[in-house]
Amino acid sequence: MIHRIDRLALELPTPKNASPNDAAAVQELLGGKYGEMSTLMNYTFQSFNFRGRKRLRPFYELVASIAAEEYSHIEAVSYAINLLLTGTTKRGHDPEPGPLQGAVDARNSYHFLSSNQAAVPYDSMGNPWTGQYVHNSGNLKLDLLHNFFLECGARANKMRVYEMVTDPTAREMVGYLLVRGGVHVVAYARALEYLTGVEVTKLVPVPDLSNKAFKEARKHEEKGLHRKLYTFSDEDYMQAGLIWNGPHPEDGQPLEVVKGSVEGVPYPDLEEEPQLNSPGAEDYDPDMFKDIAKKLGIKL
Ligand code: MN
Ligand code: MN
Repeated sequence: MIHRIDRLALELPTPKNASPNDAAAVQELLGGKYGEMSTLMNYTFQSFNFRGRKRLRPFYELVASIAAEEYSHIEAVSYAINLLLTGTTKRGHDPEPGPLQGAVDARNSYHFLSSNQAAVPYDSMGNPWTGQYVHNSGNLKLDLLHNFFLECGARANKMRVYEMVTDPTAREMVGYLLVRGGVHVVAYARALEYLTGVEVTKLVPVPDLSNKAFKEARKHEEKGLHRKLYTFSDEDYMQAGLIWNGPHPEDGQPLEVVKGSVEGVPYPDLEEEPQLNSPGAEDYDPDMFKDIAKKLGIKL
């Protein structure tokens, strides 16, 4: 089961230049072949379907804990998209002046037509995410090798999006995910080493460019975030530490398993967009629940 926490993995700044086309590019990191929906669903299905987990428990726990982290990455990318879209249409109740005019020239009109100026489960070209991006052969070596490849592909995409989108919101998100994705690259490489004896960590980094080239990634690495694998659980998945140990292949610092999740921050406030009728429900009075909340001791 997944235990949900009402916090975002990292702090995202307000965009300097909100842009629907920047948001469209960032969509690749959400619903693209190498996007966060793919990593989440690959590791989720691999963990559900893992056979022989009694014998191979550490590998199962590694994949399961990384799967849980990917959920927080879907959130991070979605919030970056939502923030990049905020302010790209004219906020107000009057349809007459055409408050959505600017959206006509946006590369991805789904952001305005099928969603509330917000993230969609599609790639940068508007292709829907598909389960065909999930590789779960059930053969452990093959699946781990695929995961290593998937994380390296995701790394390449993140670097290219960073080069396309100069806005600080997108770059903060990419910098963080480069560091966390880097952990996953090394984790799958280490797993393959334990399983086969092949020194997969010698391949990293793929692509060759170090995370240290990105200032938004550097600051997280200075705090050691590239060395930590989170279990995303209060009690379970600590056996992932049987694989996640030893020196980091790039800087030799010790790898460390952390019980629980990243601390996170409160979500950025997504304001109402009346020109999109979002969220609507104009007659709703938030005081309506005050009495019930008092009676039940629920904090509003
Ligand atoms: Mn990820
Ligand atoms: Mn990952």
